[in-house]
Order: sequence, then structure tokens, then C-alpha cells
Amino acid sequence: MNQNLIWRAVAFSVDPAEKHDEVFVYVDAPDRESAKLRIAERLSDEWGIAPDYIEFYNPSNETELRDIALGPQHPSGSPLLECGWTGGPEGSAVYDVDPVILVASPSLRCVLETAYNTLIHSDLIKEARCIGCGCTDSHACLDKFRAPCHWLQVDRETGIGVCSCCESYLNHPSISDRN
Ligand SMILES: [Zn+2]
Ligand SMILES: [Zn+2]
Repeated sequence: MNQNLIWRAVAFSVDPAEKHDEVFVYVDAPDRESAKLRIAERLSDEWGIAPDYIEFYNPSNETELRDIALGPQHPSGSPLLECGWTGGPEGSAVYDVDPVILVASPSLRCVLETAYNTLIHSDLIKEARCIGCGCTDSHACLDKFRAPCHWLQVDRETGIGVCSCCESYLNHPSISDRN
């Protein structure tokens, strides 16, 4: 039987040569200490930087995330993607819309991807599209290292973005007008 829980942490890189903004990372692990080890190990692999340059905080497990979740508990991964609440009586759950870095086993990927796609289809996450290549949140394109792209810039109101494979579009009028 699989005793692993899913863990989520907020991670970022402090490597001056290879900066990464804060993202949610997910691993599956039996306990907090192994989760921390796996996050450091797999992120250092994923980002190609020394583990010393990787910082992360707030490692919470599946049960903790479900306990603090305010939105629906289904699909099963949705409490894990929840990252806030809009507030007020009409409030609703806010979900992580930036690329979720899945530092994870195939079964964990599957749980999170199912939740992500369901939330997009029920409009709880607005899907953004790259003006360069047309890739979207749920269908990232691959860069020259065959790594999935991420957003260099994304406007969640309009759903328009520029992904990391389309840097030359950063000055495109439909994007730069907004700055
Ligand atoms: Zn693109
Ligand atoms: Zn892309």
C-alpha cells in the first residue's frame, strides 16, 4: 500500500545566475522530513542548480491543505491547488494559476492535472494563452531542453500571455500596452 502523502511547498531560487520566482511545488513523501529532502533534490535537478540555492517554505501535506481549503473538495486535487480566497460574502476560492511545477511522481501529476483541468473547465481558473505560439496553461509547449514552458508575462484578466519560448513577443502591443 502506498503510504505517501502529497506535500506542497512554496519554492524559489536564490541562485544569482538562475533566478526562479516563487512557485508551488509538489512531491509525494511519507513524512515532512522526506518531503523537504525530495523537494530540494528534485528541484535542484529540475532547475539545474545546487540545492543550496533553493529555498522553500510552508511544506504542508494533503490533509493540512484539505483542512484549510475553503473551496470544493472535488476533484480530489482541488484543495491542493487552492491558494487563497477572494473575500466577502460572495467570495470564492482562488487557485494557483501560474505554472504549477510538478516535481512529482506520475500518479501525483495525474491527481493535480485532473484537478487543474477540471477547474479550468468549470471556469474557476481562467486559462491563459500565449500570443506567440498559442500554448496554454494546460498545454505547455517545450523549450529547447524539452522542459515545459512557463509564463514570462501573463495578464489573467484578458487571458493573454507570453511564454518562455516566445520571448520576442514581450514587446507585442497587446502585452506591452498594459505596463
Ligand atoms: Zn509561446
Ligand atoms: Zn509555451
